[in-house]
Amino acid sequence: MDDQPDLDAALDGEFPEEGDNDVVAQPSGSGAIRKPGAGLYIVATPIGNAGDITLRALDILRGVDAIACEDTRVTGKLLRRYGIRTRMLPYHDHNAAKMRPILLDRIAQGQAIALVSDAGTPLVSDPGFKLVREAKDRGLALTHLPGANAAITALVLSGLPSDRFLFGGFLPAKSGARRTELDLFRTLPATLIFYESAQRLAEMLTDVAASLGNREVAVARELTKLFEEVRRGTASDLSAHYTEKGPPKGEVVVVIGPPAEGAAASDAADMDGLLKQALQGGMSVRDAAAHVATITGQPKKQVYARALQLGTGGDGGEP
Ligand code: SAM
Repeated sequence: MDDQPDLDAALDGEFPEEGDNDVVAQPSGSGAIRKPGAGLYIVATPIGNAGDITLRALDILRGVDAIACEDTRVTGKLLRRYGIRTRMLPYHDHNAAKMRPILLDRIAQGQAIALVSDAGTPLVSDPGFKLVREAKDRGLALTHLPGANAAITALVLSGLPSDRFLFGGFLPAKSGARRTELDLFRTLPATLIFYESAQRLAEMLTDVAASLGNREVAVARELTKLFEEVRRGTASDLSAHYTEKGPPKGEVVVVIGPPAEGAAASDAADMDGLLKQALQGGMSVRDAAAHVATITGQPKKQVYARALQLGTGGDGGEP
């Protein structure tokens, strides 16, 4: 199977050099190599500390027919550490459209294929979503081996409410677009989690203070690594800190606390805006009121009274 012409053509020189993956240590999983059933295995890998990988993940990576990965050098290092010699196939933004049908055809023909990203959980700000969707559409077996993820690790360490949170991936790189996107979350009663580059951190925190208010924030850096650090403070304080000290070294996650109790959409304009949006979108007055009360945390009665005014064409006495 490994020398199928379509696969070799698609790889177009990307195949790892002979010997790239042949430093063998003792297998550290459960021992004997067992081939898993045909299917797509989405496998989480460490986000820094190489020990953060499950025994099951190691068994699967050892047993599958091939491992699709973003960068064969990065994954090769992990595989060498665990004495895994499985063939790697590159699957990244630039070849994904070409590789997807090839990987899925292999699974349909009975192979077991694993997908990993450079670090953490595939699909979370990493490739894999389209592969999963197409595997599902084709009725192929599909499973996930859970493990490390920077967003959840940062949330756990942030000390901010974890009962309700929204993961926002990366915000736009330019300040204007970033503030527009942050504005979308202004009234959401939830902790917000974003990935951010260290270079843009100070500027991003300034935008957080401007768009969301001076909320409690945690900047989680180098998680699971030697210099792991969580710095907590208000958005303005942390922005001032990183402006003065310069960008921190390494990778960061920014966790932003929810709006203060009752402060979500506390001004009438916010509530009106949300109600108008819901009513114009075709919701009944009752449904719009329930929806906005849930989003804003405002008392249902009060929101319903205001929705009635707006829904019957009244403007609530505004000029
Ligand atoms: N799929 C990965 C996951 O499950 O977390 C995320 C990949 S995304 C391309 C990379 C971003 O994740 C980084 O820019 C950073 O924001 C965050 N990240 C990854 N590893 C991290 C770590 N060890 N410490 C802090 N942030 C990390």
